[in-house]
Amino acid sequence: MNEKFKLKRGDKLVLATHNKGKLKEFSDLFAPFGLELISAGQLDLPEPVEDGVSFRQNAAIKAHASAKGANMIALADDSGLCVDALNGDPGIYTADWAQKPDGSRDFTIGMKKVEDELQKVGAINKEQRGASFNATLCLALPTGEELFFEGKIAGEMIWPPRGDIGFGFDPSFMPQGYDVSFGQMSSEVKHSYKKGQKGLSHRARAFAKLVEVVCE
Ligand code: IMP
Repeated sequence: MNEKFKLKRGDKLVLATHNKGKLKEFSDLFAPFGLELISAGQLDLPEPVEDGVSFRQNAAIKAHASAKGANMIALADDSGLCVDALNGDPGIYTADWAQKPDGSRDFTIGMKKVEDELQKVGAINKEQRGASFNATLCLALPTGEELFFEGKIAGEMIWPPRGDIGFGFDPSFMPQGYDVSFGQMSSEVKHSYKKGQKGLSHRARAFAKLVEVVCE
């Protein structure tokens, strides 16, 4: 591995997001490693157009824009829900499926749209309703060098949605081996990461891989 990507205690990196929730989640994840995060939003960096056709491409677009804009090492994540019976949709368009005509987001609408599409293709039984949450992290240097880490959690789409703890499509997704949805799990259980342990969520799993490679 390129030594330039090694993150030491006290290092600072840019998180390529304008979302305060994402900044908090990643700051908490990195805190035990002594790393400080500053977001693209805090640095007033412009948001790049995410016109990639994969999680990987979109994560790379965001990470490179922040790394070049701040002249610092930058981290971006791109994630979404892929439903087997819908050929992987909504995938990179997960957030768009929850978009209202006025441009704001309502995830109740997004979950209903996924359910309507599942009904259209006759995916009624548990075995026909497989899905996964996927996350790709891209770590980029101002020189254009990049590293990727991917995490995935398999499960099934449930209806009606259950729970109100998480965000996004959480209430309609039940991870394999559990009988509660992501919307019924505390964020400690869902996103937890402990050294040497595989976290449950797609993001925690991608993060665990990153830590193995780049953190002290
Ligand atoms: P992005 O990675 O910020 O582009 O967001 C992707 C979209 O996927 C989010 O707006 C959420 O709707 C959805 N998503 C990603 N991860 C999760 C999760 O852990 N729970 C629920 N929804 C998620």
